[in-house]
Parts: sequence; structure tokens; C-alpha cells
Amino acid sequence: MLVHFGLGSNLGDRHALLQNARTALAKQLVEFRESPIYESTPLLGMDQPSYLNQVVCGTTTLEPLALLRLCQTLEEQAGRVRAEHWGARTLDIDVLSYGAQVLSLPELTVPHPELPNRAFVLLPFKHLTPDWVHPGTGQMLDELWAQWQACTAEPQPTQVSE
Ligand code: AMP
Repeated sequence: MLVHFGLGSNLGDRHALLQNARTALAKQLVEFRESPIYESTPLLGMDQPSYLNQVVCGTTTLEPLALLRLCQTLEEQAGRVRAEHWGARTLDIDVLSYGAQVLSLPELTVPHPELPNRAFVLLPFKHLTPDWVHPGTGQMLDELWAQWQACTAEPQPTQVSE
């Protein structure tokens, strides 16, 4: 099953935190690949440091909830403290996709419900797998990206790595 993860960090040594997350995920995935890193300003003009974001993918036979637990373990290892909803965080990892499946479990929604609204996910996702199609809506990433651009005046994330 091809799966995608979204990584984000806006506290501490952001590059090292992403690197550690990539290393850990690469051990769990076959044919691991990573997007460039993008930098973005926090949503809603919140007073927080800027984020580094990246999307990685690979294939796995792990079940969706096992992937969610993996994300949560890596977040905890990175010292993430859930102080406030949408607060600054050392590391955030989301399950973005699970093959062509649409899942709506109490603790896990896949594809990630905020995917169409987040430029910092759409851009690296599109860079990594431009042919990916949203299994719920049938939209391609280019379409989702055009939709985002048409609907928002937020600044676009900047690519900061190759
Ligand atoms: P966050 O604050 O972004 O880390 O959100 C974590 C919460 O979102 C957890 O309680 C998860 O159970 C829930 N969640 C629902 N869908 C997803 C998903 N696709 N990836 C990660 N967390 C998810």
C-alpha cells in the first residue's frame, strides 16, 4: 500500500527533527521517498515561529491505525507537548493517504481532512507524487492546488531544500 505522511516542525532544531522523523519512517517503509522541505508562516496569523514542512511516502503492509500510532510515538519521542490545540510543536506527523482507501474511524480520517486547505501539504505532496488522485473526490493534486490558490490570499510556502 502506498502511504503518505506530512511532517511539520516549528520549535527547536526544526531540520534535525524532520531528519529524525524521516530516518524513523524510512525504516518502516519500502521505496521511501521524500519531498523538498518548505517553509510556511503559521496559519491564521498566529504568533508562532515559522514551520518547516515536508511530505514523505513509501509502501507498507502496516494497518492504518498502526501508522497513526507510529506517528504519535515519533511525536512523543520528539518531545511534543500538547499544551494547546494548534500550538507550536516540535514535531507533527499526519497520515495523509493510505493507498486508494477512504477511512473514517473515530481517531483516524484518511485522506487527511485538511489536505485541500493546507498549501504546506499540497505543494510538497504534488512535488513528490504529481499523479496522486484523491480517492474521495477524484481530484488530482494540481486541481486541489488551483482550488487553494483561487480561494485564499495567504502567502505561499517557500521551498527551502532540493
Ligand atoms: P494533531 O493535533 O494534528 O496531531 O491531531 C491529532 C489528532 O488527530 C489525533 O487525536 C488523531 O487521532 C486525529 N487524526 C485524525 N485523522 C488523522 C490523520 N489522518 N493523521 C493524524 N492524526 C489524525
